Amino acid sequence: MNVADYEKAGAVAAKAREAARSRDWVGKTVLEICERVEGDIRKGGAACAFPVNASINEVAAHYTAEPGDGLTVEEGDLVKIDLGAHVDGHIADTAVTVNYDPRYDELVEAAEEALAAAMEAAAAGVKASAVGRAIHGAIKRHGFKPIANLSGHSLDRYTIHAGRSIPNTWSLTSFSLSDTTAYACEPFVTTGDGLGYVREGKARNIYAVSGRKRTGTPEADRMLDSIWERFNMLPFALRWLVGEWEEAEARRLLDVLVSKKAVRAYPVLVEANGKRVAQAEHTFIPGSSGARITTAAA
Ligand code: MN
Ligand code: MN
Repeated sequence: MNVADYEKAGAVAAKAREAARSRDWVGKTVLEICERVEGDIRKGGAACAFPVNASINEVAAHYTAEPGDGLTVEEGDLVKIDLGAHVDGHIADTAVTVNYDPRYDELVEAAEEALAAAMEAAAAGVKASAVGRAIHGAIKRHGFKPIANLSGHSLDRYTIHAGRSIPNTWSLTSFSLSDTTAYACEPFVTTGDGLGYVREGKARNIYAVSGRKRTGTPEADRMLDSIWERFNMLPFALRWLVGEWEEAEARRLLDVLVSKKAVRAYPVLVEANGKRVAQAEHTFIPGSSGARITTAAA
């Protein structure tokens, strides 16, 4: 694996994350968040590994802006900003929660503490279950709940979820972290009255190629070739296709690709009891003496 590229992507992602953390997003649209943070990644010298997710309150993950999306951050909202940078397919995946309701500050602190506990526990040869227990313990100390059906994951070149899961809860997962693999840990935390798991919501605005099959619609096939060329297996958003296609046409062709199962559409993930969710995330490479966090703040 190319550690230098992982570290370069990590430095760009960390800088974009810290800029996102320090901005006041109240009154701004999710489209402004996504475009600003994606712009920071590109200006930093990396490519976007996936569309920036800006998931508000009980939406835990997988919301990205539609073209012209007017959804606006309001005073009192809690927003997870999850971003990815890559250098030649080597991915840095990191997230921050910005919060505009002091009653939920502790929820955000719990997510950050759980991530710190995970990074403290992670090293080459350590069982993923031990990392999950560290996360769960940090969250329980606050009286909150981890989201049990979201987890950290191994990364591979041009692949965000590469097969291994690092749980956010106490579990019996048995694999050990390898020093030749990059991983992301991402504790998601909800309040004591949340159910502690996510269900699929209605909106689907993140996509990825699932197979390079022909659809019988030449223009849809041309879109699939273009998507593959630009994003490989990595996720993308409709707004990334607008420009090459007019919006309505892009939506029509993308619907063809989804119906033919050449492209998969990912649903937003919502806390099952409608309670707020905070998140923190780092990418790291396990070493013999601990985790080398590629997305650590400078
Ligand atoms: Mn992420
Ligand atoms: Mn992730």
